[in-house]
Amino acid sequence: MGKSIVIVGAGVIGLDVALLLAERGYGSHITVIAEHLPGDTSINYTSPWAGANFSAISGNDANALRWDKLGYGHMMKLAEEHGVEACISKTPSFEYWDEMPSRTKIDSMSEYLKDFKILAKSDIPEGCQFGVSFTTITVNAPRYIQYLHRLLKEKYGVTFIREKLTSIESAFSHPSTKVVFNCTGNGARDLPGVQDSKCYPTRGQILLTRAPHIAKNVMRHGKDYETYIIPRPQSNGNIILGGFMQKGVGTGDTFSSESESILKRTTTLLPEILTGGAMEVLAAFSGLRPSREGGARVERTSIPLDGSGSGILVHNYGASGTGFQAGLGMANEAVGTVEDVLSSLPQAKSRL
Ligand SMILES: Cc1cc2nc3c(=O)[nH]c(=O)nc-3n(C[C@H](O)[C@H](O)[C@H](O)COP(=O)(O)OP(=O)(O)OC[C@H]3O[C@@H](n4cnc5c(N)ncnc54)[C@H](O)[C@@H]3O)c2cc1C
Repeated sequence: MGKSIVIVGAGVIGLDVALLLAERGYGSHITVIAEHLPGDTSINYTSPWAGANFSAISGNDANALRWDKLGYGHMMKLAEEHGVEACISKTPSFEYWDEMPSRTKIDSMSEYLKDFKILAKSDIPEGCQFGVSFTTITVNAPRYIQYLHRLLKEKYGVTFIREKLTSIESAFSHPSTKVVFNCTGNGARDLPGVQDSKCYPTRGQILLTRAPHIAKNVMRHGKDYETYIIPRPQSNGNIILGGFMQKGVGTGDTFSSESESILKRTTTLLPEILTGGAMEVLAAFSGLRPSREGGARVERTSIPLDGSGSGILVHNYGASGTGFQAGLGMANEAVGTVEDVLSSLPQAKSRL
């Protein structure tokens, strides 16, 4: 079992790090340790609850914009080459804002989004200030992480261990471990050795509904709400309706009043989601985005270890509402901080 590289966490963030390393030939060196693995559901495991799509939901800071751009490039390539098995798809997208978004954000998006277009005022909903269309990526979140899990195990020889760590130091328990990636999402707030008080959950509630005739992604960004319609790839015609961005709220309960609000807002935004005037709602879910004041943390640090000097610890958590869209961009930079460690490991032939 390869323990030179340990990744703590098997959400999309940990799996993306494993994927980039495995594609470079390091799969047999990697062990992923996680309390929850793809296929599980828990309020302490965010990834299965995501919509998910690529959107303009992220912040305006340079890091978020760069990770989005990198992530978009990777996801587009994945959709083109393995879209069906990965359950991700290129999808036409329309995004509207109640208030004008920042120039920095628009300039950044316009540089790389495929088919990017600023919409005429007559083509955007009443009450909105601004709108764009482009080709986005939609993701069947629970099935995408299961695809990555399978791929990493079966094709690249990555080892997965189900275990809840009681401290980040314990990830270094094997003498051959050279680097640990901390991809613990909301766990980073309380995990001894990390205990990042800047972390907080941002709750969302979504509805899984059926509307096989909907083939476009639509979002409306409000001052204190997000309304979205995301077709779910490889789901036999399901769509995700959302949502909420509740800062600091940590319950996994779902509320009928919120489901009603979602239905009201999404059917107003895109009345054609209804079939014969009705909507078949299959389920309501809630999930907790792992948010962090100041944005996600992608950083190499060194950690003192009992009796054996120090260990290399790379933090990669706090993706909030962008783990699927920006995860591969974050992984790219997290991996980039340990090129010196990687160059000391024997590498299997690259499978890129
Ligand atoms: C309603 C909703 C809609 C969303 N929509 C989108 C979207 O459209 N697009 C998008 O990009 N993102 C979206 N997101 C955000 C996205 O889901 C998150 O950014 C992403 O899932 C975070 O992944 P993560 O790997 O950091 O965390 P998680 O998925 O929570 O994974 C954390 C991992 O760490 C493990 N762990 C934690 N502590 C320990 C420990 N002590 N020992 C061992 N293991 C531990 C857990 O078991 C788990 O395996 C949405 C989220 C929600 C809730």
